[in-house]
Amino acid sequence: MQKNDALAPYALKNYMLPEKGEKMKIYVFPHPHITKKSLPVTKFDESLEELVKKMLFTMYHYPGVGLAAPQVGVHLNLIIVDMGFDLEHLEEDDSTPLGHQADKSVVIPGYRLKNFGPIIFINPRILKSSEETRDYEEACMSLPGISEKITRPSEVELEFEDLKGETHRVMISDEWAVCIQHEMDHLEGVTFLDHISSFKKSLHRKKLQKYLKAGG
Ligand SMILES: [Zn+2]
Repeated sequence: MQKNDALAPYALKNYMLPEKGEKMKIYVFPHPHITKKSLPVTKFDESLEELVKKMLFTMYHYPGVGLAAPQVGVHLNLIIVDMGFDLEHLEEDDSTPLGHQADKSVVIPGYRLKNFGPIIFINPRILKSSEETRDYEEACMSLPGISEKITRPSEVELEFEDLKGETHRVMISDEWAVCIQHEMDHLEGVTFLDHISSFKKSLHRKKLQKYLKAGG
């Protein structure tokens, strides 16, 4: 997927994906964690960094391109996004050992991950949205097995804090803009099901209930 040059300076530098970690539980709609509003981050401390590390581990191992804190049951205004990484599916008989490789890629069960540069958006605020929109087929870790074409502004001006609590402002376009708006919806307890007709929403809700009953 494409890189977004405006965001490149904010990608975590020298970030090493931990070889061992715990995948956090991702809650599925209509769990109350997914429909509850989050609160601003006020403490930029070690526990915040720890949470981000665990969320990154979870996102890359899923694998997904974005994750919002409420999806893992933490109601803070925090999202992580990485749309630039390359993911290569490994064959079952591939004997490459798990963990960090000489070429800086990381092998996680079933995948080789390359060129990753996660961006952490804390307390993201959209200052301006373009009138121009684009349609994008969206999927969500909290809506397993479902995708829908959603229309959103194609460009947004975003203000956010980094892990040190410093404020930044940036223009974001295309897939990155779509992904950030999708993740920011989660902070309001909103999913893409709230952007489609109530008829379609009820069909998807039934599908998800079956998934949950089956132990998903
Ligand atoms: Zn989502």
